[in-house]
Amino acid sequence: MRAVKGANTTPELVVRKLLWAAGYRYRLNVRALPGAPDIVLRPRKAAIFVHGCFWHGHDCRRGARVPKTNRAYWQQKIERNRTRDKRHVSTLSNEDWRVLTIWECEIKNEPTLRRRLLAFLK
Ligand SMILES: [Zn+2]
Repeated sequence: MRAVKGANTTPELVVRKLLWAAGYRYRLNVRALPGAPDIVLRPRKAAIFVHGCFWHGHDCRRGARVPKTNRAYWQQKIERNRTRDKRHVSTLSNEDWRVLTIWECEIKNEPTLRRRLLAFLK
C-alpha cells in the first residue's frame, strides 16, 4: 500500500504524537517485519498498524463506502488488502509480536485512542 498510503499520513502522526507524549520511543515503517508496521516498539515486541478505513476495508461507515464506478475492481482490491493485512498480523503473532491495528476513524477521539494505546503497551 506504499503508493497510496504514504509514510506520514495524519492519523499516523496523531498516534505517534500520543505515544511520544506518553514517553514511548519507537521506530517507523520497519520493513524487516511482515507488513512493514507503521510503528514498532522493539523492546516490547509491539507493532502498530495505522490503517485507512477505505484502503484496508474497515467495518465502519467510511470503510463501507465503495466508489460507484468500477465497484467490482475496488471491492477486489480492498479484499486483497484485508487478506494481506490478516496474513501480516498472524505472521507477526506467530513470531510472538503483539499487534495493534488503529483505524483512521478512531483518530478523532483522542482520549479513547490514548487509552487504547496505553492499555496495549502496558
Ligand atoms: Zn473505520
